Amino acid sequence: MHQRKFYHPEIEKLNRKAIRELQNERLRWQIRRCLAKSEFYQEKFRKAGIQASHIKTVEDLLHVPVVTKQELREEQLKHPPFGRYTVAPKEKWRELHPSTGTTGTPVNTIWSAKDVENITEVTARTMWSFGVRPGDIVQNGFSYGLWVAGMSTHYAAGRIGCFVIPIGASMTGRQIDYMLNPGSTVLFCTPSFALHIAENLRERGISPEQLPLRRGCFGGEGGTETEATRKKIEEGLGIDAYDYFGLAEIAPTFASECTEKSGLHWAEDHYLIEVINPDTLERCAEGEMGVLVITHLTREATPMIRYWTNDYARYEAGKCACGRTHGRSVGGILGRADDMVIYRGAKFYPIQVEKIVRGYRELGDEFLIELTKDEKTYADVCTVVCECLSSDMDKSALEQRLRKELREELLVSPEIRVENFGTLERTTFKAKRILDKRPKA
Ligand SMILES: [Zn+2]
Repeated sequence: MHQRKFYHPEIEKLNRKAIRELQNERLRWQIRRCLAKSEFYQEKFRKAGIQASHIKTVEDLLHVPVVTKQELREEQLKHPPFGRYTVAPKEKWRELHPSTGTTGTPVNTIWSAKDVENITEVTARTMWSFGVRPGDIVQNGFSYGLWVAGMSTHYAAGRIGCFVIPIGASMTGRQIDYMLNPGSTVLFCTPSFALHIAENLRERGISPEQLPLRRGCFGGEGGTETEATRKKIEEGLGIDAYDYFGLAEIAPTFASECTEKSGLHWAEDHYLIEVINPDTLERCAEGEMGVLVITHLTREATPMIRYWTNDYARYEAGKCACGRTHGRSVGGILGRADDMVIYRGAKFYPIQVEKIVRGYRELGDEFLIELTKDEKTYADVCTVVCECLSSDMDKSALEQRLRKELREELLVSPEIRVENFGTLERTTFKAKRILDKRPKA
């Protein structure tokens, strides 16, 4: 089993035509049961004038209206606590996983026993694809509890046959202790926490070569596929770093990079991926950037049909060098609509700032985009705050270079403020990159 390259070879190497046929069949099953059992979907389809018999293939799905997070929130407020889209009967429910958004009421998602099983299998498959094998010591630095990724990684590591250290997203010092003894070989956490651990490692004077750690997979926020960030994590911890993706409403850890590091592979037998142009609501051509819209093909308890994720990505169906046939999003998640900054008419995402800031050896890993109002003109002011590693550095020269590069990337010139190292807040969970200090109107 150790030597096997694929976890589910019969599924992972399925040809595109067979993948599509499987999706069509599972989609028909899902639509039928949602329209039979869920008043939420019945109402939605009725308003759009669509019946179950109209949806025969993935192509027909384009006529079905999308589901937004706001809609789910309102549905749960009107029909507490779970809304009318729980399709599986109560006795099949096993786990509750509300979304962990920083704003608004969390949206409740339920996993049935079969959902837990599918999530475990898909996560084990993704973990296998970036090289996790039986006997690995897995340090799970994803947050346990309500957040989905902690549980799925824990279940899947056990399924593969790994020894798990369920440390969760805290205790930076202890994280390093376990890396030394018993010597974990695989690390899971958010990319910002990985950089924070690397920073501590340096401070303790421990060289990455002293650690048995050999790979890590990082999710919960984008960034691992930003080359500068990947390089910092890989050098700082002495590992190969891979990108992970999940969403509370859809599933944890259901898309990851393989050892080729050439984009997030989707598990297309369980999740139907569409990339939609937000202006026209048409499907984007392959390789074109749009919003990810995801449909549950096998989810029992709280299935989503065309969930509008607000995450921007591209999609490619071409076969990967690893031999897997499931589609990929090269470059990972390219931005979240919620995180978009509009400044002097230009639109940009924190990930673009990250790309520039982390390319500087003189700068720390942390950065913040601060939004304020000019007291005199009352115009918006956007300031990129970062940290220089050494305090006797010529900050103004550094700021000048940064300003030029940021202008080229963002097409607008933010203010720059270079602080001393250690000024910005560190996080063990998801980093907050935008601080809006503008007075609320
Ligand atoms: Zn691949």
